[in-house]
Amino acid sequence: MDICIVHYGEIGTKGKNRAFFEKKLVENISRFAKAKRRFGWIEVEYYEGIEEKLRKTPGIRYFGVGYKTDLDMSAIKSAVLKALPEKFESFKISASRRNKKFPLNSIEINRELGRAVVETTGKKVDLENPDVTVWVEICENFALVYSKRIEGIGGLPVGCAGRVVSLVSGGIDSPVASFLAMKRGCEAVLVHFFNRTLHSAEVRKKIVMLAEKLAEYQGSIKLYMIPFEEVQMEIIRIVPPKLRMVVYRRSMMRMANMIAEKERAKAIVTGDNISQVASQTLDNLNVIYAASKLAVLPPLLGFDKEEIVGLAKKIGTYEISILPYEDCCSLMVAKHPETRARKEIIEEFEEFEELEKSAVEKGETVEVSCSTTEVGSFRR
Ligand code: ATP
Ligand code: MG
Repeated sequence: MDICIVHYGEIGTKGKNRAFFEKKLVENISRFAKAKRRFGWIEVEYYEGIEEKLRKTPGIRYFGVGYKTDLDMSAIKSAVLKALPEKFESFKISASRRNKKFPLNSIEINRELGRAVVETTGKKVDLENPDVTVWVEICENFALVYSKRIEGIGGLPVGCAGRVVSLVSGGIDSPVASFLAMKRGCEAVLVHFFNRTLHSAEVRKKIVMLAEKLAEYQGSIKLYMIPFEEVQMEIIRIVPPKLRMVVYRRSMMRMANMIAEKERAKAIVTGDNISQVASQTLDNLNVIYAASKLAVLPPLLGFDKEEIVGLAKKIGTYEISILPYEDCCSLMVAKHPETRARKEIIEEFEEFEELEKSAVEKGETVEVSCSTTEVGSFRR
């Protein structure tokens, strides 16, 4: 194989911004391969294993893996023969002609190439339900030929929508939420709050593993690990158990906003899902989200748990999320938590700003990429 022919969906409809989206996608692909912007598609140099990377790059609807040839029928014919798999019984040629100066139209190209394949291989044409389809795209100065077409994840290139702070717990939901934000073009900065006095080494390992998995979709990812046992202790000291969860989540919101300011992020993403747990009633979400200056986006809003689990399995975070870990929330959970929190009452208890600031300052940042992990300390 010579090249990958990358096609994007939605970017194509973005009018004047199209070039911006295309350049972003080229930039993102360039992190792992040689890529060049063409008219309406992107040319990517092939190497073994690249399929897996392209399959995980947001913004790609599908891509072909095949050959680039000269613009003449005999060159195209041999590329078609090369592109055929070893075993098949029936086939179909599907030509499209972007270059209208090419002497044959697409129906004529289909016929001529079809005839050549029948003569050489003895296989039969089946337009309805072929074992193999060979796509032929006639461009300005060359032709593209491929029989292998792979679905991408769609969406928009990471970064074109700006940056978000995505709150990840060690659970199943929040990594899926981060992924969905990335899929819509957001560059996610991950934030995890943890308690250093509880099994923190294991928790850290697990969260870094989740970040590494998510980095496969984003290229690289910055993770903030915020030790917040002091805030937690203070909450336990002054807030009645029934209200702790909401207070605790509001506190996370405020710290997430502090990080967003440093990172110039424009929104906060959470793994909330309406009514899944007590903290996610509409009354509680209202009170929790009111603690954020920035818009709070919960991409899982309308998903059922099985759908979330299905997606988590598909993107590869599920296996990591189900590893056992000490959830620092469990300290906070009352047997019968408030399901209808009221902001005025909650606010009476909240005097944690200094502790929150200091927790964020003590935070550590980890630069995670799919292959290497560098650990640095965060202080400014
Ligand atoms: P998840 O499966 O993502 O843990 P959940 O259904 O268990 O979600 P909660 O535990 O109430 O729900 O958390 C709701 C959201 O709050 C999470 O999806 C995540 O975005 C954020 N969150 C909860 N705990 C933490 C934490 N320790 N660090 C960072 N974010 C958190
Ligand atoms: Mg959870």
